[in-house]
Parts: sequence; structure tokens; C-alpha cells
Amino acid sequence: MKIDVVTIFPGMFAGVFAEGMVARAAQAATCTIGVHDLRRWAEGRHQVTDDYAFGGGPGMVMKPEPFFRAVGELKAPGGRVILMSPQGRPFTQSVAAELATLPQVLLLCGRYEGVDERVRLALCDDEISIGDYVLTGGELPAMVVIDAVVRLLPGVLAEGSAEGDSFATGLLEGPQYTRPREFAGIAVPEVLISGDHGAVARWRRREALRRTLERRPDLLASAPLTEEDRRILAELSQPPVI
Ligand code: SAM
Repeated sequence: MKIDVVTIFPGMFAGVFAEGMVARAAQAATCTIGVHDLRRWAEGRHQVTDDYAFGGGPGMVMKPEPFFRAVGELKAPGGRVILMSPQGRPFTQSVAAELATLPQVLLLCGRYEGVDERVRLALCDDEISIGDYVLTGGELPAMVVIDAVVRLLPGVLAEGSAEGDSFATGLLEGPQYTRPREFAGIAVPEVLISGDHGAVARWRRREALRRTLERRPDLLASAPLTEEDRRILAELSQPPVI
């Protein structure tokens, strides 16, 4: 997979991509990540990438021409051009999984008041928001998208590791423990040290259901649930007997 980012602040990405899973994926050639300075495609001695807004108002708008030239040069066959925008479709685990199947994602980062509308209309295939808040630029959203996508690529995480993660199964993941067996006066649940893999799997499923019911009951409406899951949820929903 190829991931390209177009930004006026390419230096922001260096530290984030130098360590962790994204670096490992790039080293293993699972994906190649290119961070490109939009100014490369800007004109004039000052390589200006923004201009005043037609109609007036405070703040600058990013000019369309540099983005058009950048995409013309960088877009690969089958690639998807995505504008980072607070007005885009919400970024979720299933969007990350969808992007992880593509040969290329090309992320365009806005700044200032945003990007000239013609970039969205004539250049972009998709528009993604990482949440209902406004950041100063598309760089942090692009990093979020890249991190979430890269960890889904084959060989990046340990086999099966992403499958039990929150949202991957439609539920939140249950609690996790490591050594020591007792810490801060709290013991690891006995079942996890029982060596009974079936019992561990049933406990994990039940705890995932419990956690989802407590924290994100909205997810249950679309989660794929078995009859047994529904029975457990009904049981967990009972008021405690005093
Ligand atoms: N004036 C725009 C609006 O109200 O919709 C906001 C522009 S914002 C200050 C500048 C840039 O940051 C945007 O063009 C976009 O690339 C990026 N950005 C800000 N918040 C974002 C979010 N929640 N998700 C994705 N990108 C975001």
C-alpha cells in the first residue's frame, strides 16, 4: 500500500512516523509513506499556497492550483484522494478497514479557513473528519488516519491482534491484565490464569458485552450478536438483587 500526504508542514510528520508501528510497517515495506510539501507545487519566489477569501471575511483560504498539480503528479491508479475536513464523513474503524484495502490513499491537509471548494468538488474522492471539533490543520487528522490504517495492514501487528480490538467486532474490548497477579490490592480474575482457553474466551466475550453495555450501548444496535450474547446482555441488564 502507498500512503501519500500533501501538507505545508511536512516536518510535523517526522517524529510520529519515526517510531512504533508506522515505522515498522514502512521498514518492512508493508507500505510506503510519502510526505510531500505542497509548496513544491506552488508558483513564484514565495511559493504562496493561500489567498484572501472571495466575498471577504477573516482568514485565508488555500489555493486550488498547488493541490491540483500535486494530485496530478502523485495519484496512482486505483488511489483515493481524501480531503481532511471537519465536514467530512466521520472516521471510524470500518472506514480504516475500508482504506486499508486500497492500493493508495492520498491525504490532503488543509490549513487556515480551509481549502478552496474546487479541490473538494473536482479533485477529491472522499472527505474525512476525525471528530466534531475544529483543529488548526489537517496534519493531526492525517496522522490519526494513517496510524489506524497501517496497523490493519497484513504483518504489522501480531496475528489476530487487531481482530479483538474495540470496534473490530462491533463491541468494545474487555479488560486486559498482565503480571503481577496481584497489584494495588486488585487480583487478576482467576479464569485468566486457569489455562482453560474456552473459559477465557467466554469470559472475554462476556466482559466485552458488559463494557459495551455500560459505556457504548449505542454500538449494540449494529453489533453482530448471537443468541447467547443476547442472553448475557439480558442478564447483565438485570438490576442487582439486594
Ligand atoms: N473553516 C473550516 C470549517 O469551519 O469547516 C475549518 C478549517 S480548519 C481551521 C483548517 C483545516 O484543518 C481544514 O481544512 C482541515 O484540513 C483540518 N481539520 C480541522 N478539523 C478537522 C477535523 N475534525 N477532521 C479533519 N480535518 C480537520
